Amino acid sequence: MKKTKTIVQKYGGSSVKDADRIKAVAERIVSYKKNDTNVAVVVSAMADTTDDLIELAVKIAKDPTDREMDLLLSTGEQISCALLAMAVRELGFESVALTGFQVGVLTNKEHGKARVHSVDDKRLKKAFKEGKIVIVAGYQGITEDGEITTLGRGGSDLSAVALAKAIRADVCEIYTDVTGIYTTDPRMVPEARKLKEITFDEMLEMASLGAQVMQARSIEVAKRFNIPLHVRSSYSKEEGTMIVKTASKIEDIAVTGVTSNKNEAKITVCAVPDQPGISAKIFNAIAKAGVNVDVIVQNVSHTRKTDISFTVPKAELPKALEAAAEVSAKIGAGEVLHSREVARVSIVGSGMRSHQGIAARMFEALAQAGINIEMIATSEISISCIIALDKVDAAVKVLHRKFALDKG
Ligand code: ASP
Ligand code: MG
Repeated sequence: MKKTKTIVQKYGGSSVKDADRIKAVAERIVSYKKNDTNVAVVVSAMADTTDDLIELAVKIAKDPTDREMDLLLSTGEQISCALLAMAVRELGFESVALTGFQVGVLTNKEHGKARVHSVDDKRLKKAFKEGKIVIVAGYQGITEDGEITTLGRGGSDLSAVALAKAIRADVCEIYTDVTGIYTTDPRMVPEARKLKEITFDEMLEMASLGAQVMQARSIEVAKRFNIPLHVRSSYSKEEGTMIVKTASKIEDIAVTGVTSNKNEAKITVCAVPDQPGISAKIFNAIAKAGVNVDVIVQNVSHTRKTDISFTVPKAELPKALEAAAEVSAKIGAGEVLHSREVARVSIVGSGMRSHQGIAARMFEALAQAGINIEMIATSEISISCIIALDKVDAAVKVLHRKFALDKG
């Protein structure tokens, strides 16, 4: 007997934005339902539903309780999953819509960003046995105490991956409105090429450096349990990009993609006394203010004083500046400067581990384009430069060309 295949498909909010799209997605779902294939679908809230609900809540309460917020936001996915199950049934297929709580997505108590402990497979297996297509509301779970939780913005990706792990799915397909993962943003560089595959590590790095395709936590979980992901478009049958543990082609590629992030701001604390413990004081103060620090650069001191620069998300700049000014006064440092006119450009590739001279080639390309590098940060598989904001589009283009990413 042939082994039954199990697939999980996740449809994002834009894929189910109205009745027509819900019907189109239903058609797509049933085309995968064969006798030897079980299909479980995870769906996000329609279009901007989640944003609209948040907006509504803050009109009513200054500081709504986390518990009620989760109760409210989880309704978005309940709507889309019920409608999608109806659409599937209209096409003559048995289907059942289940909320995250009905499935048994058990989470911790952290409302708004709950972590998934486990997913119960009983109800899903029973539905599969009855030949049903299961439609599950994403983004939500339930605590041991029966409280409803949500998994953080973009959390339906995590629901899908957790579900795929629970039912040992052969593949987890992530449907979105783009056709896959590109070497860079095609809106910035028309020659950008769709990647056939990318590793979990590269995808995680790209996500944290600005590519907004999948929720980073969901990629981490997929990596941990080695669940292959297929990112593809709900508008076409075209193959998308596979996210896998190790790339199958043993080709000579050092750089896989270029990303940029215009959301950073730079702070410089001038004339910091060059003594042990001073950096700890500065960054403790910034952390206490709830700000995520990104790239950090400290200059050598010739005068027992040094400048320390770092970047923070633009939205957190006011908080960070306040904390920096306070701690600077305390430790006897000088002025605190800042700039919003910076951006980050990064190259990412697992191949960097085994290739030399990648950084030099990156800096060379930027220099040839007359782009000044203000700060540099590296990880095992990425190199980032902080540059002027108005140069970042040009930087992405020259780096894409320098590493021949359009050639494949
Ligand atoms: N609806 C939720 C959000 O907009 C979850 C998701 O879309 O994955 O963040
Ligand atoms: Mg959404």
